[in-house]
Amino acid sequence: MSHTRSHQLFIDGVWRNASDRAFIPVISPVTERPFAAVASATAQDLDDALAAADRSSKAWANMSPKERGAILVEASNLLANKIDAAARDLSEEQGKTIAEATGEYRRTVETFEWNGTHAERLCAASQIDENRTIKLEPAGTVAAFTPWNFPAVLIARKLAPALAAGCTVILKGAEETPSAGVHIVEALHEAGLPKGVVNLVFGVPAKISTHLLASPSVKILTFTGSTAVGKQLAKASAENLQRCILELGGHSPVVVCDDADLETAVPAILEYKFECAGQSCNAPSRVLVARSVYAEFLTRITDAARAIKIGAPDDPATQMGPMANARRIEAMQRLVQDAVDRGARLELGGARLDQEGYYWPPTILTEVPSDAKVLHEEPFGPILTIAPFDDINEAIDEANATEYGLAAYFFTGDALTKEALTHGLSAGSISVNFLKGVSADSPYGGIKQSGYGYEGGEHGFRSFQNLKLINELQPSR
Ligand code: NAD
Repeated sequence: MSHTRSHQLFIDGVWRNASDRAFIPVISPVTERPFAAVASATAQDLDDALAAADRSSKAWANMSPKERGAILVEASNLLANKIDAAARDLSEEQGKTIAEATGEYRRTVETFEWNGTHAERLCAASQIDENRTIKLEPAGTVAAFTPWNFPAVLIARKLAPALAAGCTVILKGAEETPSAGVHIVEALHEAGLPKGVVNLVFGVPAKISTHLLASPSVKILTFTGSTAVGKQLAKASAENLQRCILELGGHSPVVVCDDADLETAVPAILEYKFECAGQSCNAPSRVLVARSVYAEFLTRITDAARAIKIGAPDDPATQMGPMANARRIEAMQRLVQDAVDRGARLELGGARLDQEGYYWPPTILTEVPSDAKVLHEEPFGPILTIAPFDDINEAIDEANATEYGLAAYFFTGDALTKEALTHGLSAGSISVNFLKGVSADSPYGGIKQSGYGYEGGEHGFRSFQNLKLINELQPSR
């Protein structure tokens, strides 16, 4: 294979090819052709990574949290200096615009910085009373699996707290978007991270997870991806009782009440919906609108969505790039066809653009019957369903009528309605009168089939620590 770029594995502080020199092609979402390649780890490579993590774990755990934190802060500075180049690579592989990729890297930098800065505080022991102390210890080696939609910041949300807490990590980056892992690991290495503390692998996902989870050295599994794969991994982790943090899919509702300011609501929903061509776990996918404002809302959102400029991700005028891979195009076709076959009305979009690249336009469906697949499967793309509601309890029931429970959003100025919705919506995160995502300093996690465990902030940090209770009998005075 001749490619402009080949990404290697990073094992025990050294960049190297797979032991059998196998590579996986990286496909451009713009040309649909391979333009780079990534090494595909063998069982031997994974054993080397496990051994390296084992060898380095004691010294890393014994290093003071302040020193570990300083390495993370230095890595965040190094990464900040190369944001432009890293964002171009991410955009080329993933299809998101340069502006979106740059924003993602900014959040990546902030995440390393936050965890580095707070390492000392979050590793400090606490006192229950004069006889009892809770010590916090690193939980051990982490196997981290990150996907292709936000390949940089999702690595940061696992790696930064794990390292700051004193864990060693074997990270499997997404094969579709390998450069993020490479840039991040390079920054950590340059910042002085000891060899073996982070090992970066790519390859056949099922082979890698099976191999790593079969090792008793691995104490924590952290995964972001689909519910189906999350369940497989949770089963595989049972044998060695690895602690799991699973950030899985979503099918997030937005409730637009009759007093909502549509001037604010429509652009806010569109921006969050169509970022990364709709391939975000917390993107809104179902809008429920009070009947009195339904017609006006539908006209406004359809007109605004029609005006979104779709194009090459490196064109500064582009507002939405292509989808990441052919699998997503097939899923969009299947979901739209199924909904239309069952009687849904296509208000906008609905077919792939007739040009090279995985371009799918903003798609709006109304009158979608409750058994349509698009209302139950995570769409993970630029498809939005819109439906009217008559009273707030009906809206809450409808909003909760999926297996997912990641995020929910609503727009209203009325205090009682706000209370009813915040109380009634089943989700790990709720945003009111705007749509907000994750941040370095706050916890994020799902309920129901969206997974369990938390990432971000203090709660996310604790995922990588064990508590040790010290009971001491004080001499009587
Ligand atoms: P997929 O389910 O095959 O893969 C999802 C992710 O899991 C990928 O990163 C993949 O590399 C990884 N993966 C797959 N099998 C694995 C295994 N056995 N062990 C370890 N990792 C494994 O689907 P896909 O086509 O890549 O993505 C589409 C679906 O995945 C979407 O419909 C969406 O539900 C989900 N997804 C969710 C997120 C998220 O942010 N929660 C991100 C990406 C994908």
